[in-house]
Amino acid sequence: MQPYHNANKPHEYIDCYYSRSLGEAPHYPPLDQEISVPVCIIGGGLAGISSALGLAERGIKSVILESNRIGWGASGRNGGFVSALYSASPASLIKRVGLEHAQALHKLPKAALKLMHKRLEGVKDAIIPQPEGVSVVSWFNDEKSVRAHVEQLNDVFDENIRFMPREEVRDAYKTKRYYDGYFRPDSMQIHSLKYVHHTAQMAVSKGAKIYENSAAIRVYKRQDKWCIETASGMVLADQIVYCCSAYIKNLHPKLSRATLPVATYVLLTEPLGDKLDECMRVRYATADNRTSSNYYRPLADGRLLWGGRVSMFHPSQARLKNIMMKDLLSVYPQLNGIKAEVAWGGYMGYARHEMPQIGTLGDGAWYCQGFGGHGMCTTTVGGEVIAGAIANNNEDYKLFAPFGLDYAGKPMGPAIAQAAYWYFQGRDKLKEWRLN
Ligand SMILES: Cc1cc2nc3c(=O)[nH]c(=O)nc-3n(C[C@H](O)[C@H](O)[C@H](O)COP(=O)(O)OP(=O)(O)OC[C@H]3O[C@@H](n4cnc5c(N)ncnc54)[C@H](O)[C@@H]3O)c2cc1C
Repeated sequence: MQPYHNANKPHEYIDCYYSRSLGEAPHYPPLDQEISVPVCIIGGGLAGISSALGLAERGIKSVILESNRIGWGASGRNGGFVSALYSASPASLIKRVGLEHAQALHKLPKAALKLMHKRLEGVKDAIIPQPEGVSVVSWFNDEKSVRAHVEQLNDVFDENIRFMPREEVRDAYKTKRYYDGYFRPDSMQIHSLKYVHHTAQMAVSKGAKIYENSAAIRVYKRQDKWCIETASGMVLADQIVYCCSAYIKNLHPKLSRATLPVATYVLLTEPLGDKLDECMRVRYATADNRTSSNYYRPLADGRLLWGGRVSMFHPSQARLKNIMMKDLLSVYPQLNGIKAEVAWGGYMGYARHEMPQIGTLGDGAWYCQGFGGHGMCTTTVGGEVIAGAIANNNEDYKLFAPFGLDYAGKPMGPAIAQAAYWYFQGRDKLKEWRLN
């Protein structure tokens, strides 16, 4: 089911901006023996690594089993945007769980973002070479809604977001596509694969162990221990955390059924030199506010990393480059003629309710998945919540109980995701026609 993978070495990183610019990074050995450990984490994406680091910071040792290499999945090939938000909108959260509960939920990504900043101390220049802050620009001529959204985030969720009037947006971005916008000063853009390796090393330095090329193939309980089998080893653990996201297959049928694998895409252009200034005067990461939005960020060397789209069909590399370039040129036609260096895709694990799935299956088994649409900041929430629950009996995980493990639509998942994307695209077009 992997749309973009390394054909010669399927367990290695795919060809993308992040793997091309990773530099020296350790390989961790496969598990080849039986070991006993307090906690076994299955999946070495950001959810798994954040859980291991959160546990290590609380003095609890864990082992991560990763099928491929750490950050091989969504965590090492994404857009690199880090913002403290959930995929579900604040309004829909309030509607579902009430104001107080929504506010309590909202505090978690804010704290996680602070923690990510702290974890980046000393390595910031390597992992965040561009200015911090994310601009969200409105595709629609609808100042009132943008202002209302900003007011709600600031007043109800105690955010620090600045409304950007149309003149400011159009001065910053040389395109007629955008109207008003807002600026999130605390958000950032990171080299996500370097961040994965950095936080993995932090966890290892505090006693965690990582095994790559070590897929968990069978999990069962024997007496009071969880037994996690790999091809050449076995972990015996008191507690277990599933962090497998879209790649879970049938390892745990209930968790698998609750995860919808949604493929999404990124393009990297050649260095744009002065042409970049003809498009943007700022260097912030930027996203538009359509449901089927595009998001992009200029890299320090003048290349543009452009993300968006959802598809059940997996276009060839050449076709994907064309499709993504067409989107880019529809916003910045002045870039006509530029070349794409590489384009890639990956799976996000989506939950139907657009909230992360963080909780317990009972008997010392935990899950931390479903971060599609929000991602890197909320995986840090997941790691903290799970680590707090295991180490300190913290009950924050219960905040996520109302969302649960709803059936996500497998095996029709990709078709459902594609249909939803087309529906949102149509709705965005209709709104554009009505308002612009
Ligand atoms: C193209 C793309 C762009 C994105 N852009 C952004 C963005 O700009 N900002 C943002 O915040 N989020 C973004 N996301 C989403 C974000 O990357 C994910 O939500 C987040 O990384 C999920 O982390 P994870 O650890 O849950 O999953 P993953 O990173 O996918 O990790 C799951 C890991 O589990 C391993 N695994 C699965 N089964 C087993 C097993 N049986 N045994 C051992 N290991 C196993 C897999 O090999 C994989 O490495 C994007 C995602 C994609 C695909």
